[in-house]
Amino acid sequence: MQYDYDLIVVGGGPAGATMALSAARQKLRALLVDKATFPRDKVCGDAIPPRCHPILAEYGLTAAIERVPHIRVTGERIFAAGENLQVSFGNQPQIICPRIHFDNILFQAAKARVDTREGCTVLDLLRENGQVYGIRAQMNRGAPLEITAKVVAGADGFNSIVKRRLGLYRYRRAHWAVATRAYYSGVPVASTEFEIHYFDELWPGYLWIFPVGDGRVNVGVGLFPTDRTRNHISLRDLHLNLVQHPSLGGRFTHAEMQGRLRGWNLPLASVRRVLHGDGFILAGDAAGLVDPLWGHGIDNAMISGRIAGNVLARVCRGQDFSAAALQPYADAVRQELWPYFRFARRFRTQWQNPPARRQQMSRLELLNRVYFRNRGVVRRSEATGY
Ligand SMILES: Cc1cc2nc3c(=O)[nH]c(=O)nc-3n(C[C@H](O)[C@H](O)[C@H](O)COP(=O)(O)OP(=O)(O)OC[C@H]3O[C@@H](n4cnc5c(N)ncnc54)[C@H](O)[C@@H]3O)c2cc1C
Repeated sequence: MQYDYDLIVVGGGPAGATMALSAARQKLRALLVDKATFPRDKVCGDAIPPRCHPILAEYGLTAAIERVPHIRVTGERIFAAGENLQVSFGNQPQIICPRIHFDNILFQAAKARVDTREGCTVLDLLRENGQVYGIRAQMNRGAPLEITAKVVAGADGFNSIVKRRLGLYRYRRAHWAVATRAYYSGVPVASTEFEIHYFDELWPGYLWIFPVGDGRVNVGVGLFPTDRTRNHISLRDLHLNLVQHPSLGGRFTHAEMQGRLRGWNLPLASVRRVLHGDGFILAGDAAGLVDPLWGHGIDNAMISGRIAGNVLARVCRGQDFSAAALQPYADAVRQELWPYFRFARRFRTQWQNPPARRQQMSRLELLNRVYFRNRGVVRRSEATGY
């Protein structure tokens, strides 16, 4: 069969754009499609985890980040039950960069190297005898078009159409988090720190306050599957109530919300999900690669995208695009990401139900001891974060 492309990547977020970059480096004929037109926003905390940085450097994108609004964060403070844990990032500062800029940098870099179609919504997959060999898509509500490829990659986020059409999409509450995000101005913050606040009534969910520059902060509430709160209150009300919580000391009294408060889902990597099959692979949120403890996923999206390009270079040179041929992709992703996911999952269980020998420790002491390996300092404080 003659294919239009070696690889079609559905979704131009961090997973898809990185996969396109990696495919281009391997000289694959790749097409990257996204229903949005870039730059586009994505509901997120905008914290770019450290494991993204070597990948940005590999594709020569570090300088591009310097040219868009971003903040260099030197540490984080985590507040719970009248204590705070202060962790310094040492000589490895982290970055906060609004996704509207960050994702655009990745997408434009991919666009310079592979074919792209924006405003292109994938509606269905082309399949024969269970083997995926392309997509049916629609450009800006025009007539449907069919494009073929040896392999189709679903990098289309938590609500993945690729997964849905394959019958692999399942909402499993025990392995999904939900979160809100809103930008505010007028909130006093230390301009180079992440802030995370745990509240007894929300535990193990949390509220974050991240400075994004221009006097604005990114504020969100993340709820994990075991949060009792999730049954009783709308996420929106919860977010609006929490920013007025007495432990934040009135810091939102003069705050102004910029734009809308939005919510989104996060498929947690607390369970193994399908990563590949006959003629397809899944990456990033579509593969359910979100950190089960904190809810970050940009790093895992980029790592899975990068692995895909490398593996597909070998597969696409041959004639076999079956699940068996694509198995090395799933193996490599699991080998790279699962050791941490297993640790995070075990730690979460222990954190929520400490073993007898650790029951005297406060939540933050346990977090510092086991998760941060004593890198931080726990202090008693009535402080509100500012
Ligand atoms: C509130 C919130 C806060 C978060 N904060 C952080 C954080 O601070 N740091 C962090 O690392 N992670 C964070 N995450 C997780 C992070 O946002 C995701 O893990 C990350 O965006 C995954 O990237 P992705 O490329 O897999 O998917 P996405 O970024 O969701 O990209 C998917 C792309 O697919 C496109 N698409 C979807 N359907 C179709 C279709 N049918 N046809 C064509 N294109 C399609 C979309 O337009 C989109 O561009 C947060 C998540 C939430 C909800």
